Amino acid sequence: MSDSFDAIILGAGAAGLMCAARAGQLGKRVLVLEKAEKPGKKILISGGGRCNFTNIGAGPANYLSGNPHFAKSALARYTPRDFLALIESYDIAWHEKTLGQLFCDGSSKQIVEMLLEECAQSRKVGGDVEVRCNAEVTAVEHEDGRFAVMANGQIVTAPALVIATGGPSIPKMGATGFAYDLARQFGLKVVEPRPALVPLTLGGEELLFREISGVSAPVVASAGKASFPEAALFTHRGLSGPSILQISSYWKPGEEVGIDFLPQSSGDWLLDRKRETPRATLRSVLREALPDRLADILAEKLGIDTELGNASDKALRAAQERLKRWTFRPSGTEGFAKAEVTVGGISTAELSSKTMEAKKVPGLFAIGEAVDVTGWLGGYNFQWAWASGVAAGEAL
Ligand code: FAD
Repeated sequence: MSDSFDAIILGAGAAGLMCAARAGQLGKRVLVLEKAEKPGKKILISGGGRCNFTNIGAGPANYLSGNPHFAKSALARYTPRDFLALIESYDIAWHEKTLGQLFCDGSSKQIVEMLLEECAQSRKVGGDVEVRCNAEVTAVEHEDGRFAVMANGQIVTAPALVIATGGPSIPKMGATGFAYDLARQFGLKVVEPRPALVPLTLGGEELLFREISGVSAPVVASAGKASFPEAALFTHRGLSGPSILQISSYWKPGEEVGIDFLPQSSGDWLLDRKRETPRATLRSVLREALPDRLADILAEKLGIDTELGNASDKALRAAQERLKRWTFRPSGTEGFAKAEVTVGGISTAELSSKTMEAKKVPGLFAIGEAVDVTGWLGGYNFQWAWASGVAAGEAL
């Protein structure tokens, strides 16, 4: 391929590859520059190697963003069913694990191979996609309506540029805030990035929960107005598990996290138990609902060690209330090193929600995790990568 391109896409991740395939199949000549030695590295490790490639129920309500309406247009124009149809056209076997989360039966590699084949298909319609690996972009300049991109000492130019370099989560894999630096260079605002879908750390007295590291229980975890009924896991450093990862995206330093340890119980459950089984202890009734070690530590912390028949109604009501809303004050998160995604990023106020093009800089686009749109755990982040990639790919 010659060095004359209609568009240059920075980053061969989920969003960049999808964008390239769509633009290529619409007849564009596209160059994708990828700093890693191979494309789609985050796809390869995703979903425990099976890639949770979408969530069948994905809609705007499943995303955090400075503008909750921003994702609507792209998500409506490229839906989870559209991606599923693509997967099926490649005979990739899949299954629903839980809560609408769709995974490959085989391996995440199938998704990367499919995206590369979609890129290759563009040749049939007069387009072309070249994916150049080991090509780290270090500088971009914009002059006379063309973007000049420097990668490995070489300069390539095109009238359109797509920022698809993702967010800074998992720096060990080479993730950086490059997208934000570039956006700022072009005068675009960046919403302060924070680690999301990340374990929370505990300090002080709450460190006692360390004793039950490895224990998990089905709870409802909440932070602010957000709450998620899924499992929580006690870890050596604090709290993890799906419900905690979900609320970590909403949690802000200094705030409390609430945990309902008895999501199935309502009314005066403990008083009813006192009447039915007055010889039982708090520890023994909690052991019916929760893992033993968790039941024991909660009973100990509530300080009720008599038989229920000997405890006052007031004390049991207070205990039940506490079990329904146990509050933790996390000392922090495990940071970008352990975060699955990033909350924040290139401000949606700077971009067209239809095309992902920067309003101030014609020809400049931003897609995927680089943008201030962050999905819940469960396939939502890839769906945003596909949908925003398609929106920009069609506009290029
Ligand atoms: P990325 O996939 O991060 O791609 C960006 C690309 O740009 C990378 O290949 C990077 O090497 C390249 N790049 C960066 N800087 C430069 C540069 N200067 N020059 C050239 N190239 C550059 N989401 C789900 O929906 N389902 C899952 O199952 C899931 N599992 C995950 C598991 C883990 C462990 C992690 C970390 C994330 C997971 N996610 C999952 C989130 C998902 O991977 C991301 O939301 C998604 O990959 C974002 O796509 P992207 O294309 O915007 O960015």
